[in-house]
Amino acid sequence: MTDTSNLETALVLFSGGQDSATCLAWALDRYARVETVGFEYGQRHGVEMQARLDVRGSMAAQFPHWGERLGEDYVIDLAGYGAIAESALTADRAIEMQENGLPSTFVPGRNLVFLTVASALAYRRGHDVMVGGMCETDFSGYPDCRRETIDAMQSALSLGLDRKIALETPLMFIDKSETWALAHKLGGAELVELIRHDTHTCYTGDRSTLHAWGHGCGVCPACELRARGWEGWTQAA
Ligand code: ZN
Repeated sequence: MTDTSNLETALVLFSGGQDSATCLAWALDRYARVETVGFEYGQRHGVEMQARLDVRGSMAAQFPHWGERLGEDYVIDLAGYGAIAESALTADRAIEMQENGLPSTFVPGRNLVFLTVASALAYRRGHDVMVGGMCETDFSGYPDCRRETIDAMQSALSLGLDRKIALETPLMFIDKSETWALAHKLGGAELVELIRHDTHTCYTGDRSTLHAWGHGCGVCPACELRARGWEGWTQAA
């Protein structure tokens, strides 16, 4: 990971899920000023957008020293991209494994698009660091979540913007139980409870039931992964 201890500000790619909320806390712990960016690309569920606001609000209220550091939030409309990238996340298709071994929730090139668009915002806002929750440890094997891909993007963006941009991925090599452990390390039981309650990960947008691990349908791949991670963490803790 790049040493960014002397850099002051960061832009966090923030979806309102467990991973990006943990990344937001990580950034607030580390940088003097933090801004967030989210993307609307035809997600089926406004719950994700609501979760973003809830998490930001709760973090600022419950951790005042973070609240002082938390700056603007930006939501960028990528509906045109969403129309191209149509998949189980963005259209009414079943969540299943495809012949190429990727789940139908794979949105082609999503992180490449997000990072490129976010870099324009980072450039305008004077951020040299962007933080994202990409992770190559867990089930999905999304090729645009691999650190090798992120390294290539970091080079491409730095060249194309003629300015050194660091892409920080604090979750890249840890699993979901270690992500809970990281949240606990950053903000104790209070942050764990905030993330459990306020974040949204479930593919179906179900928030009717609060499980031990958070809200969700309990059966989709995202819920299964989140539940397994919670179990692993609570058993280890
Ligand atoms: Zn679910």
